Amino acid sequence: MGINDKDRKILWGRSGNRCALCQRRLVADRTALDPEAVVGDEAHIAARSPGGPRHNRGPAVALDSYDNLILLCKVDDKKVDDQPGHYTVTRLKKIKHDHEAWVQHALDTQTSLSQPSLEEANRQKAQLLSGYRVLNAAFDTWKEAIMAASDANVLRVDPEEERALHAECTRQWQNAHLACGQFAAVATPECADLAGRVLDGWKSLADDVVDGLWPSDHPGADQHDDLDINRDELLSAVSTELGMTRSAVLNSLRAAGKLGGTGKRF
Ligand SMILES: [Zn+2]
Repeated sequence: MGINDKDRKILWGRSGNRCALCQRRLVADRTALDPEAVVGDEAHIAARSPGGPRHNRGPAVALDSYDNLILLCKVDDKKVDDQPGHYTVTRLKKIKHDHEAWVQHALDTQTSLSQPSLEEANRQKAQLLSGYRVLNAAFDTWKEAIMAASDANVLRVDPEEERALHAECTRQWQNAHLACGQFAAVATPECADLAGRVLDGWKSLADDVVDGLWPSDHPGADQHDDLDINRDELLSAVSTELGMTRSAVLNSLRAAGKLGGTGKRF
């Protein structure tokens, strides 16, 4: 009697126009000269003809019904028919079930990523990049202030100048602290946590510099080996979040700097 239209529609619909085994699309696009080509088969799980693959091995079902059909590409249709020892009724039903669940999940995910949400996702990424740019500039400026104060410790400048350098360290710490808070508001918890660790690390160094414990191997000084590691991890985490390479993120920071962003003004 053949497969009826209803069963056929259910099969193609639930399979998402894809082979249940290899997931390839089963309708080839039209060319300039030819119409679309159907490269899929509505394959029988248990063969209709006696002696065919898996015939009579499964439960008695209407052989042309949806339950006994699986959508496959031509290659996989031949494969499952030539290898019925491996592709048993039970296995094929499981493959079909898993495939249809996958299609459903893919469609659900796609729906939740429809146009407004995609714009929302892009907006969040733009905010993250912008927040990271401000934070990075704040860290750079703060680092310069710490290094200037550190140099002063070596050069033993006069107390007046030393106080000014220490005040600048404090001011730049406040600036970085603020940038860190703004960054945390637009970043994932992981990125916010890494930024906080960079802030804490530099703060610990700045305190030692202001206390005159650094640069030196003074026993009271903290270890400051992880400063650049934390900052490097932050760059990696932000890049992952943005779906960009690390160098692409750095280039984008540099490009924004050249456009008159956050650099020093003289
Ligand atoms: Zn296939």
